[in-house]
Amino acid sequence: MIKIYNTQTKQKEEFHSIEDRKVKMYVCGPTVYDLLHVGNFRGAIFFNLVRNWFEYRGYEVTYVYNYTDIDDKIIKRANEESIKTEDVAEKYIAEFEKDFQNLGLKPHSHNPRATHHIDGMVEMIEKLIENEKAYVTEGGEVFYSVESFSEYGKLSHKNLDELQSGARVEVTANKKNPLDFVLWKPSKPNEPKWPSPWGEGRPGWHIECSVMSSKILGDTIDIHGGGIDLIFPHHENEIAQSEGSSGKSFVKYWMHNNFINFGDEKMSKSLGNTVTGRAFIEKYHPEIFKFMILMAHYRSQSDFSVNQVNNAVAGLARIYSSLVLASEALAASDVQRGEIPKKFVTLLQGAKKATEQALDDDFNTPEVFARVFETIRAFNSRFRPGQKVTPEIKAMAGGFRDFMKFVGEQMSLMREEPKSFLVSLDSMLLDHKGLKREDIDQLVEQRVQARLEKNFEESDRLRDELTAMGIEIHDTPEGTVWEVQK
Ligand SMILES: [Zn+2]
Repeated sequence: MIKIYNTQTKQKEEFHSIEDRKVKMYVCGPTVYDLLHVGNFRGAIFFNLVRNWFEYRGYEVTYVYNYTDIDDKIIKRANEESIKTEDVAEKYIAEFEKDFQNLGLKPHSHNPRATHHIDGMVEMIEKLIENEKAYVTEGGEVFYSVESFSEYGKLSHKNLDELQSGARVEVTANKKNPLDFVLWKPSKPNEPKWPSPWGEGRPGWHIECSVMSSKILGDTIDIHGGGIDLIFPHHENEIAQSEGSSGKSFVKYWMHNNFINFGDEKMSKSLGNTVTGRAFIEKYHPEIFKFMILMAHYRSQSDFSVNQVNNAVAGLARIYSSLVLASEALAASDVQRGEIPKKFVTLLQGAKKATEQALDDDFNTPEVFARVFETIRAFNSRFRPGQKVTPEIKAMAGGFRDFMKFVGEQMSLMREEPKSFLVSLDSMLLDHKGLKREDIDQLVEQRVQARLEKNFEESDRLRDELTAMGIEIHDTPEGTVWEVQK
């Protein structure tokens, strides 16, 4: 049974789908006027896991992730660059899709664009006017009347009186209530415009999601997701619009992911002023990005300080070094695969079960990684680099790799070729320690020479020197190999 923390009820609830074995899920996507900030990717990466997990549990998931392709910021960008708003949107949708592909996330079922749904927005606004939830001003604007929707505030747990006392009184007092929000507005000269019963204009932002969600998924959906910054007013307004027009309940479970936090200025500086996901991926790696985001529980802040990046690199290097070890054992063609020892079978089964329980329990990814590292420790304690591969070890390596593959599939992680990716992770760790690969190679080579000359005093001294630098040496039948201590 999957349990989800529902923002609206403020508690974990058992998940029951509206239709048998089907999940209808909508997540608010980006406004496409620039490369996306690191934080915008948290939702994309986390809700990819949510979708994968429901599919693993036997649900058919329809996942809608929209593009807001008409907005003040897009118009501003188009004016700055003297191009059309469509071209701005087209360009940054393509850029986002490039990043999305590099991250290896599963394509969504639908990526609707707001400008393709203007008719639906006009229809919904007409319905809201008919239901006396919205009103037209003399200037041709249409506003939603928050007082007409008695449940306004039920998601964000704010009440109208409190909100009103905090609201700034607007100068353009066309609104009946300062909290009323715009559904349709006349376009300024040179802005994109569409025909409507209230004159040529363009839609407000909130109405887009209500319409795209209902057009593709129907009036009531299972899950609506987004960042916590969208709870108010965006999602609160979506509820008012959707329920105010259909008269039906809009969303069964509301899920919100927390922010990414740049602990220190050093980090923002090292990535340039605007910290885009692109910059992070290019400086580090998509695997590191996904791992960092999933290491934290989605409802807590994810810390992207320099320290935390180094922890993530070291953690991933531990994962990948165990994958290298397992694939080497499995590649030993002269050894038959035997039986996995009972104790290790029990351990693997326990780890898989605990992982399933953790993901069922509101996507507890930190718990999953705790199990992953526990399993790695157990595998490493039975098999070290350079150790002779036995039929038993080959079988353990197979079982271990299957478990890691299972976790990787849910998270869209562990996608890289282990050996070469481990080399690049080790290079990052060396960089952080201020060490150079060539210098280590040289010391290791000196030690090999000393051993050949049977100068064991010198070879031990060199090993101690390397250990002090944080380098581990393994003498294997194929020669001496080294790795960075993790
Ligand atoms: Zn939205």
